[in-house]
Amino acid sequence: MNITIIGAGPIGCYAGYLLAKEGHAVTIYENHPQIGSPIQCTGILTSDFDQFGFPLDSFLVNTINSIEVYSPSQKKIAIKQKDYIVCRIRFDNFFADRAREAGAKIFVNHSFLRKEREKLVIKDIIADRELIISPEIVIAADGPLSPTAKAYGFYHPQRENYYGVQAVVEGVFEPQTIKTYFGNDICPGLFAWIAPESTTTARVGVATLKNSKYYFDRFMKEHHFTAKEMQAGTIPVYHPKQRLHKDNCYLVGDAAGYVKATTLGGLVPGLQQAEILARCILEKREYQPELKPLRKKLWLHRQVHRIMAKFSDQDWDRLITYVGQPHVRKVFESYTRDNPIPLLSHVLWNEPRFLRFIKYLW
Ligand SMILES: Cc1cc2nc3c(=O)[nH]c(=O)nc-3n(C[C@H](O)[C@H](O)[C@H](O)COP(=O)(O)OP(=O)(O)OC[C@H]3O[C@@H](n4cnc5c(N)ncnc54)[C@H](O)[C@@H]3O)c2cc1C
Repeated sequence: MNITIIGAGPIGCYAGYLLAKEGHAVTIYENHPQIGSPIQCTGILTSDFDQFGFPLDSFLVNTINSIEVYSPSQKKIAIKQKDYIVCRIRFDNFFADRAREAGAKIFVNHSFLRKEREKLVIKDIIADRELIISPEIVIAADGPLSPTAKAYGFYHPQRENYYGVQAVVEGVFEPQTIKTYFGNDICPGLFAWIAPESTTTARVGVATLKNSKYYFDRFMKEHHFTAKEMQAGTIPVYHPKQRLHKDNCYLVGDAAGYVKATTLGGLVPGLQQAEILARCILEKREYQPELKPLRKKLWLHRQVHRIMAKFSDQDWDRLITYVGQPHVRKVFESYTRDNPIPLLSHVLWNEPRFLRFIKYLW
């Protein structure tokens, strides 16, 4: 089959690799001149990434073994968790190289412009000319604002996007610890983070629905950081009603909004979704039903995010007290953020006072 993928991010390239290695003619169009650049990501992966069996050494920057959570009144807990920090340029190119080796063609400097009936119009930016193509299948892997999903008319109008701002900074850091800071004055609706690359360099950022730069500047000032390099980008909030397939077009990754709403991590769910999409195309299965297990997890993240968005500073202190109890912390140390169903059921079983927060769903 003749398959076109719009967007050479990691998710589009992974889907391209999986389909090309089965003999399909895959073409990937990317509007930027270089794959993986500009960087718009902190590059944190949970250890669930191990399930894919990729060789980490080609893009690994650091391995984390603890996450510290700070409440607005500086109450702190540390949770043992193994995470990876990757270089997004090398990470994205790893997937692009796999796709090419499997036979996919990748054209950079080629931007999806519009849909004209059954055809797509792609602009060759360097040659300044338009190409008209008629693929049998179109995969929209073109990120959170997905021009392709919009052109096909199924980008859900109520989708929300966070805006993340981050900097690479120098300082003195505990190299195996990610620090997260919660509170309405710090980063409303989410958290600020310090993710170390090493003992001397870290990625520091915030993500909010609005005024991200204001909160970012405040956080930087409070911690006496100076930006060596700035990065920013849009991150979608998972929307359960987002349609994922229409006509011959499928959405995947950020284009589909497949991001954990509590942490805005999209890499592990996006890669899992790419595998499901490839299987559906190869085995002629319906996409939406096959996504049910992944959708359940993302739906749960969305509910927890809705609750956390209404937390008062006192609630954050309470939460930290509950999580700090050894038997509750043990539960948080037994499951990654990519497994919210067993995590939350065991947490509620071990500390029923968490139920008090459910009122925030209404
Ligand atoms: C500040 C920030 C921090 C983040 N931190 C993390 C983190 O620590 N861990 C994590 O898991 N996730 C994180 N994320 C989210 C993560 O970056 C995304 O989930 C991930 O990049 C999704 O991959 P993708 O391939 O779906 O989309 P993208 O990586 O966005 O790739 C889409 C590609 O499509 C291209 N494109 C767009 N429009 C067109 C067009 N018209 N024509 C052709 N090509 C087009 C884009 O140039 C891009 O290369 C973060 C995001 C931000 C903004």
